[in-house]
Amino acid sequence: MCCEGLMCAACGGPVIEAHCPVCRNAKAHVHASNGPSVQLLGVILAMLTILAMLFAHHYA
Ligand SMILES: [Zn+2]
Repeated sequence: MCCEGLMCAACGGPVIEAHCPVCRNAKAHVHASNGPSVQLLGVILAMLTILAMLFAHHYA
C-alpha cells in the first residue's frame, strides 16, 4: 500500500490509521495520485454550486 509505514508529524501515529486531520489530509493526498482527488472533486462541486446560484440570481 502507498501510505503504509508513513508516520504523521502531528500526532505521531501511522498515517494509514488517520488519527488526526493531518493524517487524513496526507492519506488523501497520497491516494489522490492513484485516482481522482476527493478534494478536487469537492472544489469542482463547490464552484458548480456557486455558478448555479449566480445564474439563478441573474435570471430569477
Ligand atoms: Zn496525525
